Amino acid sequence: MLFPTHLAVAVLLGRRFRLSTAWLLVGAALPDVVDKSLATLGVVDLFHTVGHSGLLLVLAIPVAYHGRSGLALAVGWGTHLLADAFQIVLNGRPTDALFLGWPLVVPPTPMALPPLSFARQYLWSPAFFVELGIWAALAAVVVADRRRRESE
Ligand SMILES: [Zn+2]
Repeated sequence: MLFPTHLAVAVLLGRRFRLSTAWLLVGAALPDVVDKSLATLGVVDLFHTVGHSGLLLVLAIPVAYHGRSGLALAVGWGTHLLADAFQIVLNGRPTDALFLGWPLVVPPTPMALPPLSFARQYLWSPAFFVELGIWAALAAVVVADRRRRESE
C-alpha cells in the first residue's frame, strides 16, 4: 500500500475509535520509515524486513497495554502490516506476504522495488482501487466534519 494511504487509514481509525491520531500516525508510518531507510541505505536487500515483521508482536502487545497512546501506536503499526499483506494478496502475489515472518521466512521471489518504481507499477492494480476507496472515505469524513462544524 502506498505510504500516504497508511496515514489516511490511521486518521480514519482515530476518528472512528477515538484513539490518538498522532500515535496512530507514528505507528502507521514506522514500518516504512524503518524498512525503506534500511533498504535504501543498503543495510538489507528487501523493503519489508524488521519494521514489517509480525514477530514484533512480542513488542507491540506490551506497548498496546501501556495506555491509550501505546494502544494507538500498536494499532497503527498493526494496520500497516495488515494493509500491506492485504494489497499484496489482492494483487496476486500471495507468497510476498511471507514478509510477515521475516527473518524466519522470506518471500521466495520478492518484488524488491524501490519506492518510486513500486508506486509506478502499483498504479491501476486491484489494490490501487481499494486505496481510492480509502481516500474517498477520508474525504467523506472531512466533509461531514466541516458540515457539522458549520451547523453548530
Ligand atoms: Zn509498508
